[in-house]
Amino acid sequence: MLKKALENVLTEKESNELISAFDQIGEIIIVRIPDSLLAKKKIIGKALLDEVKIVRSVFYQASAVEGEFRTRSLEILAGEDNTETEYKEFGCRFTVDVKNAFFSPRLSTERERISNLVQNEEVMTNMFAGIGMFSIMAAKKKKCTVYSLDINPIASKLCEMNIGLNKLVGNIISINGDASKIIKEQLMNKSDRTLMLLPERSDEFLESAINTTKDGGIIHYYSHIHADKKIDAGKLSEEHYLKVTPVKSEIINSKIVRAVGPRFYQTVVDIKISK
Ligand code: SAM
Repeated sequence: MLKKALENVLTEKESNELISAFDQIGEIIIVRIPDSLLAKKKIIGKALLDEVKIVRSVFYQASAVEGEFRTRSLEILAGEDNTETEYKEFGCRFTVDVKNAFFSPRLSTERERISNLVQNEEVMTNMFAGIGMFSIMAAKKKKCTVYSLDINPIASKLCEMNIGLNKLVGNIISINGDASKIIKEQLMNKSDRTLMLLPERSDEFLESAINTTKDGGIIHYYSHIHADKKIDAGKLSEEHYLKVTPVKSEIINSKIVRAVGPRFYQTVVDIKISK
């Protein structure tokens, strides 16, 4: 649909270069534009705004996701310069701020997978919870308790709003601050399931993840792995985890979450730990 919206302003070759460089999130489109097309970025923005009916803002993504908060620089190309919007996924509603707190629509399959694994009465620690997407999808599906931690105050505030929007007050507890510190002070041996979706820094936080997880609990360990053959990526991340973990671990599953570059993958390993 987005490609069709651009057929009057780009050649076929140019619009092919833009393929998969779009994200539509509620009323916002974010587009990554290759250097060869940067001179046309305003025209691209205006065409998308005019052609895609529900869209009110088009932003150019001017940097990769970066920094401690995993946020990105956005430049308005057309429409309203407002980075907040409402986004719906699997029956849950989220207020997102695409500039000031991490958000990716590309993790929806993984969010659904985790929400299907969570059991009634479980306690989950979501160490890097952002605006609470995984926490809310899990608590909407099962009667569980989720501690939803994030160091970015804007992400934690949005998480609180989203807990209210989805009528999950009391089921999810949003706590702002450094996950290691919060776990040490409040959440030792609390969780049946621990999510650590900060793949660049998983090894640094593994000890905290083990600290918050009960004996026999599950850790979902995310990482970034180079693999010449795609089929090897899961196995390579299992091997990496087993090399760095200090506890007895039973690998339950591993898989690619998404490709993040050429021969470079975000993976998840599901592990049952014994303490
Ligand atoms: N799980 C969320 C999601 O999928 O929408 C967000 C994942 S995002 C890749 C990582 C998050 O970790 C960011 O929101 C960032 O602010 C947070 N973060 C980074 N360092 C942290 C720390 N030391 N303690 C808690 N949160 C942290």
